[in-house]
Amino acid sequence: MPSGSSIKDGLRPIVHRLRHRRDSLLCGSCAVLLYHRVTEIPTDPQQLAVRPAHFNEHLAVLKKNYHVLSITEFDELLLKRKKFPPNAVLLTFDDGYADNHLEARPILERHGLQALFYIATDHIGSGREFWWDELERMFLVNDNLPMDLAFARDRVRINWSAPGAASSVERGSTYENQLNVMRRLPSALREEILGELRVVLNSAVARTTHLPMSVEQLRAFSGSPSVVLGAHTLGHPSLAHLSSNEQQHEIAGSKRALEVLVGMPVKYFSYPFGTGADFNATTEALAREAGFLHVAANYPGMVHARRSPISFPRYLVRDWEGPQFSKEIQRFFRR
Ligand SMILES: [Zn+2]
Repeated sequence: MPSGSSIKDGLRPIVHRLRHRRDSLLCGSCAVLLYHRVTEIPTDPQQLAVRPAHFNEHLAVLKKNYHVLSITEFDELLLKRKKFPPNAVLLTFDDGYADNHLEARPILERHGLQALFYIATDHIGSGREFWWDELERMFLVNDNLPMDLAFARDRVRINWSAPGAASSVERGSTYENQLNVMRRLPSALREEILGELRVVLNSAVARTTHLPMSVEQLRAFSGSPSVVLGAHTLGHPSLAHLSSNEQQHEIAGSKRALEVLVGMPVKYFSYPFGTGADFNATTEALAREAGFLHVAANYPGMVHARRSPISFPRYLVRDWEGPQFSKEIQRFFRR
């Protein structure tokens, strides 16, 4: 016979679903979609890229069957707790890749749609790849890996030696480990360590296919009617692993930096990585204090006006063809 607590545990998802249904009926709901890149690249271990042809198909599906909100429409509905229209969708992008300007923007403009782009500002104009892409370049696609390596700096420890040095298995596990270690480091320390690794791993040259926007590109980008900008920290750390001061520096600092870069106020923010392990109550308090109107996280779920505008959910979009995208988005609305 089930214990009282297991009955309660079993009921929890049902109660959650019913509550969500009730809130959706009362307030309507909106699927916020999360993209990163619109481009075609040969390797993509984090599945961040959507091919331009597929992105075009996604927008065609959205225009035909959904109500894609402008950013000010979304603000009005969420912040004034109004009812979302049926089939409401908001488009968002994280990070600030150059392809957002070169590939995604023209497609959005052709369809007359708008998206909210969250920018990790230290990467803009750096001429360097985003740090997770640097790890891919150094460990997964590097033809000049040294045969022996013993590297130790702070929490970053990498060791291998011949024979069988840096086999594909070892490369893969080192890459995965370093992604986990480096997301928890303060951005300045991670940058120092990456600088040393570029030298010892013989991999200093950034791939032109993986660049963030230059300052000029960001400025031109910000002038498009299809583009609204938000901040996404300075160096893209997992905020929950930083001290309160470091978090404040990353959150408020990226708002200020972006405002200086584009010369307009910045009202929006999204957490790097954005899962429940990447932000905490301090992060949420600091985001409110910085004056953002709303803040996006990265866990699946529908947004409605009964939900807090801080840490709202989003659905990750992958490189789906149009029909697959259509099925996936229907599934989002059925949850
Ligand atoms: Zn990001």
